[in-house]
Amino acid sequence: MSTLELPSEGGCRCGQVRLKISAKPLLTMACHCTGCQRMTAGPYSLSAAIPTQGFEVTEGEPVIGGLHGDVIHHYFCPHCMSWMFTKLDGVDWFVNVRATMLDDTGWFTPFVETWTSEKLPWVTTPAKHSYAALPAMEDYEGLIGEYMGQR
Ligand SMILES: [Zn+2]
Ligand SMILES: [Zn+2]
Repeated sequence: MSTLELPSEGGCRCGQVRLKISAKPLLTMACHCTGCQRMTAGPYSLSAAIPTQGFEVTEGEPVIGGLHGDVIHHYFCPHCMSWMFTKLDGVDWFVNVRATMLDDTGWFTPFVETWTSEKLPWVTTPAKHSYAALPAMEDYEGLIGEYMGQR
């Protein structure tokens, strides 16, 4: 376990898209939903919710992939197709950065896990809070406060 050093840089598998975070995460999460299983080709996705002003794409031009939906915008490298970050329409205060894109991941552990109802049966994470689906909207403030307060 290391501690997060800011700014912290990251990039996709091929290196065409690079990003930088310069603010502490509001929350860290693992999502076990079958959509994340497909998009990561793994058991779950890992996210760090970074305040928008602390997130920057420094190289390359990410493109929309994943669901191509109206609400959830999944951003990918146009060349290697790594899933790099997600923005929610109408939510401008944070960006969900895929934690495994960061060059240093030693500080990361998921604080909340979501969609355990869809998880692979053998998977466990060290998350302190588990949800069968998603937390209620009114739960996020408490979760963020608890996560940020523990550091
Ligand atoms: Zn790439
Ligand atoms: Zn998911």
